Amino acid sequence: MTAKLVDVKNHSRIAGLGERVLSGGPITRDEALWLFQLENFADIFDLLSWANRIREYFKGNKIHLCSIVNAKAGACSENCSFCAQSSFYQTGSPKYGFVDPEPVQEAADEANKNGVTAVGLVAAWKGLNEGPMLDEVCDRIHELKAGGKTRPDASLGIIKSQKVADRLKEAGLECYGHNLESSRRFFSTTCTTHTYDDRLETIAYLKKAGIKICSGGIIGMGETREDRCDLAFALKEIGANVVPVNVLNPIPGTPFEKNAPLPVMEILKTIACFRLILPRQEIMIAGGRTVNLRDAQSMIFMAGASALMVGNYLTTLNQPVEKDLQMLKDLGLDPSWDKHGFSDQEPCACESHAEPACVTA
Ligand code: SF4
Repeated sequence: MTAKLVDVKNHSRIAGLGERVLSGGPITRDEALWLFQLENFADIFDLLSWANRIREYFKGNKIHLCSIVNAKAGACSENCSFCAQSSFYQTGSPKYGFVDPEPVQEAADEANKNGVTAVGLVAAWKGLNEGPMLDEVCDRIHELKAGGKTRPDASLGIIKSQKVADRLKEAGLECYGHNLESSRRFFSTTCTTHTYDDRLETIAYLKKAGIKICSGGIIGMGETREDRCDLAFALKEIGANVVPVNVLNPIPGTPFEKNAPLPVMEILKTIACFRLILPRQEIMIAGGRTVNLRDAQSMIFMAGASALMVGNYLTTLNQPVEKDLQMLKDLGLDPSWDKHGFSDQEPCACESHAEPACVTA
């Protein structure tokens, strides 16, 4: 990438796309791909400023905070090439069985203390079937819900029946994390023990059960910009409510351990492109933030991010929550998400705001 002056033609094309998104129109795959290919730093900063405006227009100054509990760690049967918890790789990552109620309640207390909207139970296994483990998972979700301190979320892998999704919903689950990881084209480079279609099928069961979808991916795995663009459009198609953007933190012992880090400006540009493609969604910056963005972490909001994973990740450390809360305060951003249940992502019935949906309603 280069740092030149703003190219006037590019400037007016970026502005045209930004204006269109602000007035409720979509951008096409070709237009988005052109944005993903921008190289000139001045053009990228121009794009970031539009992504920031779009975030402010659709999301105001609210930032949605999520945290996770590693509810079952390590020894996973799957071979995801980025993951420290796969049994295929020697990574020294901890291993333990399904979590007792106490650590989950502690995570809920901690989240509540810090104004974090959701706590997600995350399990390192292929997926969840009917049986005693589903009962135990539902107990933990029910306890989280009954505690009333935080939104109960979960990320429990592949689901193969509607009944499982319905049971999770009955237990009180509100949002399920299930990343598409990358484009359909690149997916088999990341994993061969399950398929992209397994993931789409899981998401379909969850949606039918009335559970909100948290689905995104990981960048920096060796995918192309076109793969990132196609991931964003696939997430739009499935109607993801929260879109986590993870940046690979290469774990020694995994197949991706030697991947070169993505440049900071490439990461920020990717977030901005996601904001133009997914203007109403919660775009959440998750794993790999601290290590990849370093001092540029606060730039994610200017790039269009509206949500943040706080607290430690599954197998790697994050910066302390207090530091994240200070960062938001310094930027005039408000982490007290109003628990509106994602209603700002719905089209508005207000006659004067036929399209785009009224963001002030
Ligand atoms: S990403 Fe999930 S499914 Fe894949 S190896 Fe890790 S824990 Fe298992």
